[in-house]
Amino acid sequence: MEPPGNLDPDKDDLPLRANTNHILVKHYVLDLMVHLHSRLISSSIVLFLEPQPEADEAERCQDGATFQEADTLAFGAKAEEKEKTWDSVDVQTSHLWHTTSNSDFTLVLDCCDLDVSKVEEVDITSSPDIMGLLPQSASKILSENPQSAFMENLFSMPSSQWQMKHQIFSLCSHAPCAEDGSSLPFRRDLWSLQVRKRRVESSHQFPRIIRIHYQTKPSASSLRWTKDQDDRLCVYTAGSPINNRALFPCQEPPVAMSTWQATVRAPSECVVLMSGEEQAVPTKDGNTHFLVWNYYVTMPMPASTFTLAVGHWHQVATETFSALETEVGEKPDCGNMTKPRPERGASTESRLVSRPGKSSRKTVKDSPLQTGSGEDNTSSSSADYLAGLLSCLLVQRVIPHRVFSPVCLLQKAQMSILKLLPPCLAAAHAVLGVHPFPRLDVLIVPSGFSSLGMASPHIVFLSQSVLDAGTPASAENSLSLCGSRICHEIAHSWFGLVIGARDWTEEWISEGFATCLEDTIWAQAQKFSSRERSEQFDLKALLRWRRLSDEMQNSKEELQILRPNMEKTGQVSKSGSSTVKHALNPEKTFMQVHYLKGYFLLRFLASEVGEQEFIDFLRMFVRKYHGHLILSQDFLQMFLTTFSHMNRKSLTLADIYTDWLDRPGIPEWLHERSAVWSQTRLVEEVREEVIKWILFSRTHQGKGRKRKRLKPKTNFKELTADQLVLLLELLLEEPELSAASMHALYKIYNLHRQDAEVRHRWCELVVKHAFTQGYADVEHFLLYDQAMGVYLSCRGNGPVSAQSGGGDDPVTLEVAETLSGSRTHLFFWDTGHQPSKLFTQDYYIFTL
Ligand SMILES: [Zn+2]
Repeated sequence: MEPPGNLDPDKDDLPLRANTNHILVKHYVLDLMVHLHSRLISSSIVLFLEPQPEADEAERCQDGATFQEADTLAFGAKAEEKEKTWDSVDVQTSHLWHTTSNSDFTLVLDCCDLDVSKVEEVDITSSPDIMGLLPQSASKILSENPQSAFMENLFSMPSSQWQMKHQIFSLCSHAPCAEDGSSLPFRRDLWSLQVRKRRVESSHQFPRIIRIHYQTKPSASSLRWTKDQDDRLCVYTAGSPINNRALFPCQEPPVAMSTWQATVRAPSECVVLMSGEEQAVPTKDGNTHFLVWNYYVTMPMPASTFTLAVGHWHQVATETFSALETEVGEKPDCGNMTKPRPERGASTESRLVSRPGKSSRKTVKDSPLQTGSGEDNTSSSSADYLAGLLSCLLVQRVIPHRVFSPVCLLQKAQMSILKLLPPCLAAAHAVLGVHPFPRLDVLIVPSGFSSLGMASPHIVFLSQSVLDAGTPASAENSLSLCGSRICHEIAHSWFGLVIGARDWTEEWISEGFATCLEDTIWAQAQKFSSRERSEQFDLKALLRWRRLSDEMQNSKEELQILRPNMEKTGQVSKSGSSTVKHALNPEKTFMQVHYLKGYFLLRFLASEVGEQEFIDFLRMFVRKYHGHLILSQDFLQMFLTTFSHMNRKSLTLADIYTDWLDRPGIPEWLHERSAVWSQTRLVEEVREEVIKWILFSRTHQGKGRKRKRLKPKTNFKELTADQLVLLLELLLEEPELSAASMHALYKIYNLHRQDAEVRHRWCELVVKHAFTQGYADVEHFLLYDQAMGVYLSCRGNGPVSAQSGGGDDPVTLEVAETLSGSRTHLFFWDTGHQPSKLFTQDYYIFTL
């Protein structure tokens, strides 16, 4: 949960203020120094800018006051209220700001909670060493503006020459500031950093390179400073709703694609993991106790995808490369795709593909991360990147991957994640084709992480709750949560990362697809027969249906809509700024409507055209839209065009909008289909067991502590993890369950060693029936499985605190009650009191 103090609690929509229609950041050079003990990062960032062709027209509404009006026009917000909000929070203004006027061009960057000390114009023209690096005769405007001409040449270098390009960017980033020596005037408010140059009225005259010196604040909500499971300090980008703007000033709108390179200095005992195409090999930083880590990306991506983690993690020991990883040369399984591929060997740029190196010490509730490459402004660089990537990765079913975790979890991580990664990566390749990214690091994040996983380019964060719980009986049971979550995060490489939502309100585009594909990829990884696969899909669908219908009954209608802006989806103001509807609504963070309703829409489409045909279509879709930002209609239109016979079934774009995307509630198809799922074999098996348990409970009314009663005569069937979840959910609907049956449940299914989804339901049963022998399980769950929901806890007379995304942020009960729309499970315990009872249908006040 975000500290409420840093965000305006009255605000629901997230402002994206950057004026990307005037000027774009093409490349960032970051220099970060991580101070773990003081919980801050001191930094300089150099921005390489490019004015936009249509800027002249748009610049009339450039300054602060006017671009707010532009927002108002587009989105109907009240300008007065916005202004009030801005002025009531901390505003930082450089002493030169008053020397500028509203007619000066303003560079607006998204920024929150940063202490900015200085903004400089960088001048490379006085450095002949740099200016001589690129041919200068090509540009006509050379004589007028040599720096601009140089930048044009630099930006147009192909990504295959990334090494030279990055060297030049690096040299430029260290060039002196402009001759007149003075800093650029700036102003920082709640949501943005505004920079001007006196008497520069157009983006075309604005400096092309600026350097910003700043420091993050300990409370900055882009970063989470905490301790890992070994009780050692660490920090990581938290997948905050405000993305990375409290880590570095940037252009947040997804259309602002850029490349970056970063130098990170961190204490020498730490590991720095980051989005980056190559594993970094750290070097010493002079005589200091810091090591220097360098990362870069050559594929233009939104700044929101930048991901960083610094801590005392260790790499999980790899066994020798599996056969899968050495299958170089095997013809890739690309189905019946007809699109021509680059010839193998067309590029020998081996550096794009990194292999796990011994020399390297170590290195996404998914977050609403979005990426992809802008269709309009970066298509050439994306295509250039893609060509290089494809030629390198075509044969890699399993990309190089590493797993990092705290020492105490190394073994579990090895037995589950490291073991599952190769089959899951290979399965994803078989389903969707070439991996979009050349490598993958997986990190087990601290226990306060708010979701089971989060995907970013080259790095996936996983919660410890997905680790193998160590069920002795069935390996499949203990790994299914882990496996399906890994598949979900891998699916985000395509949906959410290289293909992103153009408007972040359409979160379903990443989450619905990832949820749908997690089943497909996991089934492929387990080599299920088609019957097993469809039975498994139906059971999953039923569980998700139960979750969705429950959430629909307990949430506000406005949060049940997948396309809240409807026909205005994707619109921005003249400057390029916009707002993301409901992005800051704390309720939304804990809801799964976007995952589930989006997933069911895709299941609906698959049921219309056939499962395999739908997968073939998805593979075609990811090829066509690789590196692009999309809206719902891009996908749906291509679907309806590809399956033109849908017209005969009278399925139109308008129908899909109406039934699935633009309205609250549950589409009719789902009501009908859920009745079918309820009667499938795996579900019937569970129902039979439920009946046995109810009978058992009635005939065993004892306390359950007497050992002889614990050997029930009933012959209970072994169930899979998903079946167990359903069993416990159905038992939860029973008003009475005897202590003896609770005890027998616990023993027979080894419930304390099942995966976190099963244990979650078990804890609910324990609380509901005040089964005191299970309280230790509840306490353990509250402490170690915070990714599974929102829990309130209280000890003695201490403050109530929420344990969920972030564990140690104190909140009040009132705040918790605002979450009442979601199917959130609130446990509340207090030593010295009697066990308590149901609070509402979905909330439990639990006292121990
Ligand atoms: Zn996800």
